[in-house]
Amino acid sequence: MTKPTPSIIAIDGPAASGKSTLGHRLADELGYLFFDTGVMYRAVTWLALQRGVDVNDEATVTRLAETAQIDVAPSSKDDGRACDVLADGVDITWETRRHEVDANVSVVSAYAGVRQALSAQQRRIGLRGKVVMVGRDIGTVVLPEADLKVYLDASAEERAKRRYDEVRARGGNPDYQEILDKVIQRDHIDSTRAVAPLRPAEDAVLLDSDKLDADEVFERVKNLCK
Ligand code: C5P
Repeated sequence: MTKPTPSIIAIDGPAASGKSTLGHRLADELGYLFFDTGVMYRAVTWLALQRGVDVNDEATVTRLAETAQIDVAPSSKDDGRACDVLADGVDITWETRRHEVDANVSVVSAYAGVRQALSAQQRRIGLRGKVVMVGRDIGTVVLPEADLKVYLDASAEERAKRRYDEVRARGGNPDYQEILDKVIQRDHIDSTRAVAPLRPAEDAVLLDSDKLDADEVFERVKNLCK
C-alpha cells in the first residue's frame, strides 16, 4: 500500500541553511501553502525598531506581538519576494530583511510571550493542512504532529557565504566576516534560549546542505513525500 503524501510538512534549521528555498519549491511542487514563520518574528522586530521601542523591553515588545496585525500573503509583486508581509495593513516585506532586523530578531524571538502569540497563529494555519511551514521550532513545538519533519543544517561558513552572495547579487557590498559573526551569534541565541530552542525534533530527517546542493536537497525531500 502506498502512503499518502504528507499534508503537514515542517522544515526547521539555522539561518541561511536553505530552508526557505526548499520550502518554497516543495510547496509549489505539491500545490501547498508555503509559510515562512521567520517573517513574523522579523515583522514584530521591525515594528519595535520603527516605533522606538527598546528591544530589551520584554513587556512592551510582547504587547506589540499580541496586538499588531501581522499578515503573510502570497506575493503581490515580482521583485524577488517569497510572500508579502503586512503589519497593520502596510507592506513591510523588504523592511523585515534589513540589517537592523537581522541584528535584533533573536532577542525578540527569545521572549516567551512573543513566541506564544506568534506560534498560536502559526499552529492555527498549519493545522489546516497542505502546508509547508518553515522555521526553528515547527517540528518540536508549533506542529509536533507534522507528517514529515526535515531539519536542514549547514556549517556557519557555508551559510555566511550564501548570505554574502545574496547581498552581492542584490547590489550590496557586504563584509563576509561580519556576516559570519552575525550568523554565529544568531545561532547561539536561537539554540540556547529557554523557550523553543532551535534543535531537530527526535523524528526529523536530518539533511546537511554542505554536502548537497539545492537540487539534491529538493530531490531527497520530494522522495520522502512519495
Ligand atoms: O528564518 P529567519 O532567518 O527569517 O528567522 C529570523 C529569526 O526569527 C530567527 O533567527 C529566529 O530568532 C526567529 N525564529 C524563531 N522561530 C521560528 C522562526 C524564526 O525563533 N519558527
